[in-house]
Amino acid sequence: MPIDFKLARSLFRANNVGDECSSCKQSDWRFGNDIVSLPYAQDSTAQTPAPAIHATPTICNHCGYITLFLYSED
Ligand SMILES: [Zn+2]
Repeated sequence: MPIDFKLARSLFRANNVGDECSSCKQSDWRFGNDIVSLPYAQDSTAQTPAPAIHATPTICNHCGYITLFLYSED
């Protein structure tokens, strides 16, 4: 699923998300190419797929540190 960069940036700004990297303190980052999905653990007897968290990766261009922001949940 492609990321709507304009929407993501406007949401981050509206919520006062800082753009300083937690690792190297630089402010040079980008979004990953796609939304990533992180499935919850599932009972082996379950009949339906496990729900997942979908997240927007942001990547520091200086050191490669990756941060995930919630995009949606199942
Ligand atoms: Zn960094």
